[in-house]
Amino acid sequence: MSNRTVVVAGAGQAGSQAAASLRDEGFQGRIVLVGAERHAPYQRPPLSKGYLTGKVPPERLALRPPSFYDNIDVELRLGTPVTSIDVDARSVGLGSGDRLEYHDLVLALGARNRGLPIDGADLDGVLTLRSLADAEEVRRRLPAASSVVVIGGGFIGLEIAATAVGLGIATTVFEIAEQLMARVLSPGTASFLVEAHRRRGMRIDLGTSAATMTGTHGQVRAVWTLDGRSVPADLVLVGIGAVPNTEVAAEAGLLVDNGIVTDPHLRTSDPHVWAIGDCASFPCAYADGRQMRLESVQNAVAQARAVAAALAGRAEHFRAVPWFWSDQADLKIQIAGLPTGRDTVVMYGEAEQERFSAFCFAGDRLVGVESVNRPADHLAARRLLELGIPLRPVDLTRPGFDLRALASGRSAPVAPTS
Ligand SMILES: Cc1cc2nc3c(=O)[nH]c(=O)nc-3n(C[C@H](O)[C@H](O)[C@H](O)COP(=O)(O)OP(=O)(O)OC[C@H]3O[C@@H](n4cnc5c(N)ncnc54)[C@H](O)[C@@H]3O)c2cc1C
Repeated sequence: MSNRTVVVAGAGQAGSQAAASLRDEGFQGRIVLVGAERHAPYQRPPLSKGYLTGKVPPERLALRPPSFYDNIDVELRLGTPVTSIDVDARSVGLGSGDRLEYHDLVLALGARNRGLPIDGADLDGVLTLRSLADAEEVRRRLPAASSVVVIGGGFIGLEIAATAVGLGIATTVFEIAEQLMARVLSPGTASFLVEAHRRRGMRIDLGTSAATMTGTHGQVRAVWTLDGRSVPADLVLVGIGAVPNTEVAAEAGLLVDNGIVTDPHLRTSDPHVWAIGDCASFPCAYADGRQMRLESVQNAVAQARAVAAALAGRAEHFRAVPWFWSDQADLKIQIAGLPTGRDTVVMYGEAEQERFSAFCFAGDRLVGVESVNRPADHLAARRLLELGIPLRPVDLTRPGFDLRALASGRSAPVAPTS
């Protein structure tokens, strides 16, 4: 495979990993990693956490040292997007005007923040956070802010809000739904989070929609809700979800449906084009094969590795256990599996001490575990899900039940119920 060319479009978490994993797999052909941003591939998670407070300096954001790509002979084309794909000619057009031919194309285009189409959204001081450039702007403005409003109570919004509270800034979160992250979190964990943040001084308004923003001299000053209330704000962060970057794929005739649609091998509707990370909609083994998109570092990395293996002739159905983390103030939230299909939730640990895990079951089958400040539970949960070790709701309530022993294979699966 030494004379083959793989073009990776998108130099983020998934794209960078795909290039590295191709070399790990022994791929000897040409690899070109094309990125719209001018920065070498960097991590996004710190952008809404330690980067905002200065705890993570800019030089620690890079995913790999600058010499890495040269060392493994990966050509970096930064600051130029892929603007077109010709699947018949197997070539891509770049913003720079260049064309690149490929044998295989890996689309790792990520997602962008959803816009908020309300009056005042274009005022100065209304920001979103996805890229390093966005984070630089938030970081520059945050210390001078006296009142921050975050629109959207998702993970990124809550991380930014928790950071602002930590800096002593009056902070309000507006969430349109009656529950935080209702699509992702179980109700118990969601209400725990609301209360935990309120105890730390964050104001969270559930069931509240931002209707308009007003300002003076072009600078935002207040956010008004649909029910006519207003909250002062000199900095507004809009975090109402992301939309996948699919346009270039759709224009090329690839199948797109809330993401670039792939098969279980992460191959798109064209046999020489693959899609990974935030932009890919794949049949998820942990959701009974339903097509879904996952926005997480784990998913980006695991899918990149899977495609590299497939290109090296070791294609397997992608079935990595999904997991995710979010750091909000001193709360480490970790999710293993997909708790969405649950019908039973068993709390394990001490919620009042802010250390617990919510085990989510569909019938007697463990489908996901949400942990707060219980990293050992999270690791055990990943192992149970990966290895398919059975655990039923009743087992967690048995005296002497040892989760770690079960996950490490030191204890026999649990006794049958009568
Ligand atoms: C602020 C923030 C905090 C996060 N925190 C966490 C966390 O705590 N835990 C967690 O698991 N996940 C977190 N995530 C999610 C995680 O970072 C993403 O899921 C992950 O980066 C996805 O990798 P990706 O390669 O698919 O996309 P990205 O890393 O976004 O990379 C996609 C790249 O493609 C580029 N691109 C787009 N279009 C083109 C084009 N046409 N041509 C060339 N390049 C293009 C983009 O500019 C971008 O650089 C966070 C995300 C953000 C934004």
